[in-house]
Amino acid sequence: MATDTTAAQVETDTQALGPVVNFDKVVKRYGELTVLDELDFSVKPGERVTLIGPSGSGKTTILRLLMTLEKVTDGVIWVEGEPLSHMRDSGGELVPANEAYLRQMRKRIGMVFQQFNLFPNMNVLRNITEAPVHVLGLSKDEAAVRARELLELVGLSDKENAHPSKLSGGQQQRVAIARALAMRPDILLLDEVTSALDPELVADVQNVLRDIASSTDITMLIVTHEMHFARDVSQRVLMFDKGKIIEEGTPERLFSEPREERTQKFLRAVL
Ligand code: ADP
Repeated sequence: MATDTTAAQVETDTQALGPVVNFDKVVKRYGELTVLDELDFSVKPGERVTLIGPSGSGKTTILRLLMTLEKVTDGVIWVEGEPLSHMRDSGGELVPANEAYLRQMRKRIGMVFQQFNLFPNMNVLRNITEAPVHVLGLSKDEAAVRARELLELVGLSDKENAHPSKLSGGQQQRVAIARALAMRPDILLLDEVTSALDPELVADVQNVLRDIASSTDITMLIVTHEMHFARDVSQRVLMFDKGKIIEEGTPERLFSEPREERTQKFLRAVL
């Protein structure tokens, strides 16, 4: 029997899915330096969360751990209810993840970096189709159809044959966003994606990300020093200091009435 999907039903289903990202007492050390100190936080499906805080407070490390570019020192990271930092052995016990397992889990997560990191020797279309063809096994034609849809979304339909060196920084970053989305990740990580851009190019990239935020249900973790952008795009802000969350709230509340002195000081410096 068909039933109407009410807002309450959607809410219940979403809760039933549990958090999409969950850090459980995550510790990250580099030698003597403790970068993340028993960090706990979780992100709900479709939620957009911005991480703010002074340089060196551990924000990029969180994204790099999620991209499996780094390994946890202790604790467990969960993605969609499955361990990311670990895998289960035949007895169901958590053991450190191996490369094959990480390769599978990594497909759920896309990342856009500060330095766009496009393949310089490939044109725009190939930059976007390369991973869907080689990692997801799509045919070249299927991947090209999807890539063209994404180029339209980021406003670069006329650039598919261009090489990255012929594009502005803002255009390159929009290609990088399309490339990340081409893998259809459940989670998109954005690490200071506008900080390498000339000021007049920042708005184009931010507008594309605002469109994606409002038109998709992709979960986003965003590291940015642009507080206006954080306010527009995210539903929750986490303020970090020395590897811990010292305050969190909606952008409206946290930016207008920060409770912690450390947050007040940080916001005075960046706003
Ligand atoms: P944020 O993104 O908040 O600026 P990061 O996560 O980049 O902070 O860095 C947190 C701390 O970890 C910094 O003190 C940084 O120097 C240190 N760090 C990051 N990566 C490494 C590494 N590969 N080796 C040693 N120290 C590192």
